[in-house]
Amino acid sequence: MGLLFVEVLPRDATGGADVLQCRRCRVDAASVGAILSRDFQGRIGRTYLFNRVVNITLGPNENRNFRTGLHTVNDISCICCQEILGWRYVSYNDIFSSASNDHCLIF
Ligand SMILES: [Zn+2]
Repeated sequence: MGLLFVEVLPRDATGGADVLQCRRCRVDAASVGAILSRDFQGRIGRTYLFNRVVNITLGPNENRNFRTGLHTVNDISCICCQEILGWRYVSYNDIFSSASNDHCLIF
C-alpha cells in the first residue's frame, strides 16, 4: 500500500467542535460550515447535506429508492478505515434545489 494522504480540517478556537470525524478512526470528514441542510432523514436517523467532504473514497454507482424517488448514488467511505459515512448523489431529478451532483449526505 502506498502513502495515505489525510486532509486535516481547520479547527475553531474551541479545538474542533466544528469538525465532523469518522466515528471509527476519528479522521476528519467535514466541517460544520460545509453543511447545506440538516433536514434530511436516512435509514438510521438524521443526516446532513454537505457541499464538501474530505478523506473519502467513492463506491460504485447504485440506484436506490428514497422517499423522493429513484436516485443514483455512491456510498462514501472513510479513506483510513473504510467505514461507510454516507452517500453522494450522482444524479437525481432536481428535487433538492440547493444541491448539486457533488453534494454528500453523512449520517
Ligand atoms: Zn475511519
